[in-house]
Amino acid sequence: MNEKEKTKRPRQASAKGNVPQKRHYKKRTPVQHEHSDAPAETQHKPRLRQPKEVKRTAVRIIPLGGLNEIGKNMTVFECSNDMFILDCGLSFPDADMPGVDIVIPDFTYVERNKDRLRGIVITHGHEDHIGGLAYLLKKINVPVYATRLTIGLIEGKLKEQGLSGKVSLNVVEPRKTVKMGCMAVEFIKVNHSIPDSVGMAIHTPAGVIVHTGDFKVDYTPIDGKIIDLARFGELGSKGVLALMSESTNAERPGYTHSERTVGESFD
Ligand SMILES: [Zn+2]
Repeated sequence: MNEKEKTKRPRQASAKGNVPQKRHYKKRTPVQHEHSDAPAETQHKPRLRQPKEVKRTAVRIIPLGGLNEIGKNMTVFECSNDMFILDCGLSFPDADMPGVDIVIPDFTYVERNKDRLRGIVITHGHEDHIGGLAYLLKKINVPVYATRLTIGLIEGKLKEQGLSGKVSLNVVEPRKTVKMGCMAVEFIKVNHSIPDSVGMAIHTPAGVIVHTGDFKVDYTPIDGKIIDLARFGELGSKGVLALMSESTNAERPGYTHSERTVGESFD
């Protein structure tokens, strides 16, 4: 028995070799007798460090448009060897851009890393979120994921650019999740001035990133589907690594009117 134990113990120790401080525990035992009042704190500190080291996978969020400007929204999320794009919009030229019809994001970074690109998710069908898509898909052909109306609008864009039937377009329902390598993107229903809009919860090894997309809280939306505040709350209670939120008019007091009032004003 003694011999067996002897052979087992070193194995256990080496199996747990990645977890620091376990082996130091034994060495400290005789020292503890000399400082019997003090050692409790010094023993606890190393234990608290352990979970952080396990969760060290970095996630990169790279805005290629839409930050500090209106239009051409496009964000890249990267983790390990995987990356995906959230939205791919256009913007319209300023007065100092004569002869320019539309402005699209700079795709250079994505083109250089296309081997790692797993797909594109789209929050809603406005031009500043889908208008650049056809130009990117001409260069890199990857699957696109969006809700039903958004996919329909994208189909029209691809047709204009001669890409009809050449791209994998996938309808995703709210509360469903799309795998993007080591990350997963969950669609969450939001309200906006166009139906079928979603926000996204991006589940990564480092934690959950919530991206609201363009949104408002509309209790009487035309399609009857209210923003899924319950899901946002659920994610919040579990802990969110970062929140990326639309901020249009965020500094103006009051509420945005329901989309229903737009229809009423035509009567
Ligand atoms: Zn919008």
